[in-house]
Amino acid sequence: MNSEELKATFSVFDFFDDLADQIHPTNVVKGFWNEPEVMDKYAAKLALVHSEVTEVLEALRKSQGKDKVTEEFADILIRVLDLYGELVNTGEADPELYKVMRNKMEENKNRPPKHGNRWG
Ligand SMILES: [Mg+2]
Repeated sequence: MNSEELKATFSVFDFFDDLADQIHPTNVVKGFWNEPEVMDKYAAKLALVHSEVTEVLEALRKSQGKDKVTEEFADILIRVLDLYGELVNTGEADPELYKVMRNKMEENKNRPPKHGNRWG
């Protein structure tokens, strides 16, 4: 990489740093970085559900075997049911998961292929 190319590369990084210097203070003023609230904790727990979903994908992608795939599905359910239990305890969800699941499963039988969506 010659010096002109290097200079151009650094200016791109400066550009992003400059954008960050403008964006972050605005978001601080708008309250996005206030002290954590309980919803931030829920969001973190949901992110961990996502991470377990990614672990299933990686187990399949890397051919890590049926045991690993099954273990990661167990991790998803543990994370989901842990959060659900907390949300029931705090009044954010109703303690009717089984009933709601049975109802949804019946409703899904009458929905169109791919539930009317293009893919999924
Ligand atoms: Mg896992």
